[in-house]
Amino acid sequence: MPTNWAGNITFQTGTTQPETVDELRELVSGRRKVRVIGSGHSFNTIADSADTIVSLDRLPYEMDVSGDQATISGNVRYSTLGPWLHGNGRALRNMASLPHISVAGSVATATHGSGVTNGNLATAVSALELVTADGDLITLDRSDARFAGAVVGLGALGVVVRLTLDVVPAFDVWQYVYEGLSFDTLDFDAVMSSAYSVSLFTDWSDVRAWVKATEPVPDWFGLRPADGPRHPLPGVPAEFCTQQGGVPGPWFERLPHFRPDFMPSAGEELQSEFMIPKAYAPAAIEALRGAGDRIRPALQISEIRTVAPDDLWLSPMFERETVCLHFTWIADTAQVMPVVELVEELLEPYEPRPHWGKVFTRAPRPHPGFASLARELDPKGVFANDFLIRNGLL
Ligand SMILES: Cc1cc2nc3c(=O)[nH]c(=O)nc-3n(C[C@H](O)[C@H](O)[C@H](O)COP(=O)(O)OP(=O)(O)OC[C@H]3O[C@@H](n4cnc5c(N)ncnc54)[C@H](O)[C@@H]3O)c2cc1C
Repeated sequence: MPTNWAGNITFQTGTTQPETVDELRELVSGRRKVRVIGSGHSFNTIADSADTIVSLDRLPYEMDVSGDQATISGNVRYSTLGPWLHGNGRALRNMASLPHISVAGSVATATHGSGVTNGNLATAVSALELVTADGDLITLDRSDARFAGAVVGLGALGVVVRLTLDVVPAFDVWQYVYEGLSFDTLDFDAVMSSAYSVSLFTDWSDVRAWVKATEPVPDWFGLRPADGPRHPLPGVPAEFCTQQGGVPGPWFERLPHFRPDFMPSAGEELQSEFMIPKAYAPAAIEALRGAGDRIRPALQISEIRTVAPDDLWLSPMFERETVCLHFTWIADTAQVMPVVELVEELLEPYEPRPHWGKVFTRAPRPHPGFASLARELDPKGVFANDFLIRNGLL
């Protein structure tokens, strides 16, 4: 059976790959249970099904841009979209750390990059075309009251076969790495809002910053940039990382941490991420630092990012200025799970919302409209799976 990228999930069945949207519509309407998978980069059973898992990889590949809108098919990945948009003089406002992930699958879980004024990747969606459970093809756009519930849809509402995305004029980014920061002295709000995108990498003791700016940064809190390229994991060669050292380059080659032409690793990791209101970040960071000795044995590295609030019902950034506390764990579920539970316990006072595509055990109460929307679009629960039910989403 196929596995997810990390190899910690073995799916219950192989993928079915329709070659046309009509074939997909027929397939969906004829099956009792269906899930759709993107590029399989999630770390839990969100995309799993015992019955049918549909992959869109063999559907026709479409990318089109006109003015400030790009329309793409549901099987496009950021690694293809980025250079193509750039060649057309356009850009996405933001990207995740890895460009290999599918756009539809990333949008469905509210995948994000960083930047206090940058929304998550789902906020770029202005319309989507969906094959619903009875095989209908419907289009939802921002004028539709259901749209805000449907964009971060976790594959529970139908199969997204086309997305329209907001794009902006292409821009350059200067990326720098700064080392030797300390949580004791850094002004968190000032640091996180000091550039277009800022990521802090930490093991909850040492702190380093990845700063991505839309102009050269002559001075960053009096620190000198690192003397060579760096990988987020200290000591690991940086050849898979996007160019640093303040060398300007196109947005799609600087906003992700990893280059599209290489895989950063063979999936030897698990990931968790918890989103909290930005105002709680200093206190939450202190709580995690206090437990650093218990977290570090299961941790490869943590990353702290910011994301702007949005109005998408299942987005972890829904109506909150957000700080994302990310954990790249070692690839050992038995050792990692107790530490995930410890982190969830420590963060409980700070109203955490988990990343839907990563490892977590406590789900927040979902937006009340989502289950009704799912019932309206999928009355027989064709797209329901154990993950969605266990987490109280349906
Ligand atoms: C190395 C690595 C780095 C990562 N970096 C980041 C990061 O920087 N920021 C971040 O937020 N996340 C990050 N992630 C997590 C990742 O972005 C999410 O798990 C994302 O959902 C992966 O997209 P996918 O296409 O692989 O989705 P999948 O895992 O294939 O599916 C995820 C969900 O999307 C649904 N879905 C997929 N395609 C469709 C479709 N066409 N229509 C409807 N629903 C669909 C599935 O049903 C499922 O519910 C990272 C993951 C890895 C492995």
